[in-house]
Amino acid sequence: MKEVQVKVPGHSYTIKLGSGVIKELPAELKRLNPSSCLIATNITVGSLYLKKATDLCNGMCRTESVVLPDGEAYKDWGSVSAILEKLASMGADRKSVVIALGGGVVGDLAGFAAAIYMRGIRFIQVPTTLLAMVDSSVGGKTGMNMTAGKNLVGTFHQPEAVIADSDFLRTLPEREIGAGIAEIIKHGVLADKTYFEELERDMEKLRALDPETVAKVVGRSCEIKAGVVSRDEKEKGERAKLNLGHTFGHAIEKLTGYGTWLHGEAVAVGTVLAAVTAEKQGKINCGDVKRIQDLIHRAGLPVRIAGISASKAIEAMKGDKKSTKGVPHFILPVAIGTTVIEEVPEGLIKEALLEEGYE
Ligand code: NAD
Ligand code: MG
Repeated sequence: MKEVQVKVPGHSYTIKLGSGVIKELPAELKRLNPSSCLIATNITVGSLYLKKATDLCNGMCRTESVVLPDGEAYKDWGSVSAILEKLASMGADRKSVVIALGGGVVGDLAGFAAAIYMRGIRFIQVPTTLLAMVDSSVGGKTGMNMTAGKNLVGTFHQPEAVIADSDFLRTLPEREIGAGIAEIIKHGVLADKTYFEELERDMEKLRALDPETVAKVVGRSCEIKAGVVSRDEKEKGERAKLNLGHTFGHAIEKLTGYGTWLHGEAVAVGTVLAAVTAEKQGKINCGDVKRIQDLIHRAGLPVRIAGISASKAIEAMKGDKKSTKGVPHFILPVAIGTTVIEEVPEGLIKEALLEEGYE
């Protein structure tokens, strides 16, 4: 088992990761000494792992569960409300604990419900997708979607612990593994050249879920994200770097209809565009851009997506949550392992889009 510490002002917690670490759940509950606990999951993950998780918790405290429908489309008020109603009907109090058992959707929903029930109760993240292990379960962002856009409502609410058991990944579809790898490559590009080189060396082993490689990679990605979050919990500055590839990525998801491309796949394409945009400005050399493209390709991820209009993409990027006054902010890699945050002139984005074959 490996442990990574996350420290934010007034709170710190441990990420426990590795094969079989789900057995740590009782020890975490013992430490938190809850009056009761509620496991929130979805139908897919629940049918695979709810019984095991419930058995582990039941020895420690009264445990109930709520099973949500599966999918980003259900990351909405109906699901948050279902968790809150269950908490109320089971008599949960301020000493109860919510356990999020699932991918990023369940984690964001359960964390948000925990953040607002009785003005905030404690919760534990038990991520079951690669993306949730390296990204969404760490850092305390919780929330839900609105009709007007993704993640428009939410809070910062840090978990008490993260338990990332790599054995869960054995049942995860290959495409979902790829989506997690996109965020992993992003971590290498934005923060750590040596890590990027390790990914170049170990990509095949990672895709095959070699246990040692998975443990190393999940650990390093958690360290990178935990480091950024520790320095800038509320995204006043540095945390925005984690949005590398997301400005164009979000535009792709919006323009192609959510769900056509997985978020991670869109981020992969967005990371390539960010590198090409940086190259246009003379900020990064073409050798590094090629290495980024090659690694994304070797991960089985797309480097560009057909049928996207450059002008529509630019409009979508201007409307992004992270734009100010309609000017999109880009996270640009200036070398592998180093990034800057900048406003990029529209003309330049257009040039990069045209060069990448978007019309
Ligand atoms: P997801 O939660 O939808 O999971 C993907 C699919 O895999 C689902 O169908 C799920 O039921 C299934 N699944 C999960 N675990 C499984 C397992 N072990 N075996 C088999 N199937 C399994 O998607 P995701 O990629 O994990 O998360 C995406 C969500 O995370 C988005 O809503 C995004 O906004 C959010 N997110 C949040 C943060 C944050 O900081 N809070 C960061 C990144 C992403
Ligand atoms: Mg992301």
